Amino acid sequence: MGCFREVFPGRGPESFREDGGNAALKAILEGPLGDLAEKVLEGRRLDRADGIRLGESNDLLALGFLADYARRCRVGDEVYFINNVHLNHTNICRNLCLFCAFGRTADAPGAYTLTIEEIAAKMEKVKACRPTEVHIVGGLNPALPFAYYEEVLATVRRILPEAHIQAFDAVEIDFLSEISGLSVEEVLLRLREAGLGSLPGGGAEIFNPEIRRRICPRKISGERWLEVHATAHRLGFRTNATMLYGHIESIADRVDHLLRLRELQDETGGFLAFIPLPFHPENTAFSHLPGTSGYDDLKTVALARLLLDNFFAIKSFWIMLTPKLAQITLSFGANDLDGTVREERIAHDAGAATPQYQPAQEFIAMIREAGRIPVERDTLYNVIRRYD
Ligand code: SF4
Repeated sequence: MGCFREVFPGRGPESFREDGGNAALKAILEGPLGDLAEKVLEGRRLDRADGIRLGESNDLLALGFLADYARRCRVGDEVYFINNVHLNHTNICRNLCLFCAFGRTADAPGAYTLTIEEIAAKMEKVKACRPTEVHIVGGLNPALPFAYYEEVLATVRRILPEAHIQAFDAVEIDFLSEISGLSVEEVLLRLREAGLGSLPGGGAEIFNPEIRRRICPRKISGERWLEVHATAHRLGFRTNATMLYGHIESIADRVDHLLRLRELQDETGGFLAFIPLPFHPENTAFSHLPGTSGYDDLKTVALARLLLDNFFAIKSFWIMLTPKLAQITLSFGANDLDGTVREERIAHDAGAATPQYQPAQEFIAMIREAGRIPVERDTLYNVIRRYD
């Protein structure tokens, strides 16, 4: 980074102290976050203590200013969206994470598993919209054999041969390794044969083992999650990363989580996007918690952009944030609004009140209004169309 002179031509950070050329920046440099602002402006990497100070600061506009600067330096003014489809093949899950409103036992009301025929019918239905991505995640259903997953991929590939399939998060990949007796590497190679293109970022939650013990005791460890992604990267898969925030974790837990992701990204370069996921408490064991505030959502996006200096995309998942807040995150470090989605069950089971579909025209209008350039992308961030 360190592109200060490109963002503010003809000036160095010192000039703002001297002549007040930019009142907002001058105030930040002279305030309690001044030393951190200098680090960001000079493109120096932030450390754990810096992250905690930023996360604990209430100076939302300072965070936004710095994250917006970091975003401009790193990725410029283009904001991405994708024409995609979500497919949640089963909600039967043996893990029953306490924060999850989606997973349930096989005999619980509303439990379902889509047959291959039903999946084929769903794909036929969306064919006319020409989605460039099919995003598949679901529960850990002990009744399904490994062959089912291969068939799901093969079916999607047959009906939508042009679409990239992003499917099965690290938790599911680990589960498939367990039920098939294959190594993670073998699972990934078999799934690639069947049509798998990349891995979504789910299941990361918060890496701190103590928090994990309290919110998802049966889920794989954070270490294992990172290991699955490292293996996928080694095989040439690109993957995403997430963080579920706003439940019982501390700011330090969030910072540690982000730094672990940054560390792996330094090693492999395999992550495409980071997606902060605000916790939705409705219908979960934590329904007494209030959920995140808009303030916290914006701070978390900004923190991610500032700490994850080696990630290309910071994605705002409008389904969980609402389109209005997602639009504002574009001034707090985000450069991707994800997709048209069409049908989503996981966040909606937890009380997300957003619609299930947003057409491209709305993304274009939202992005333009924020003064940025809308770009339709594919899963791997290749440009499909730039709306100058
Ligand atoms: S978060 Fe995933 S693993 Fe946990 S219960 Fe929900 S579907 Fe299952």
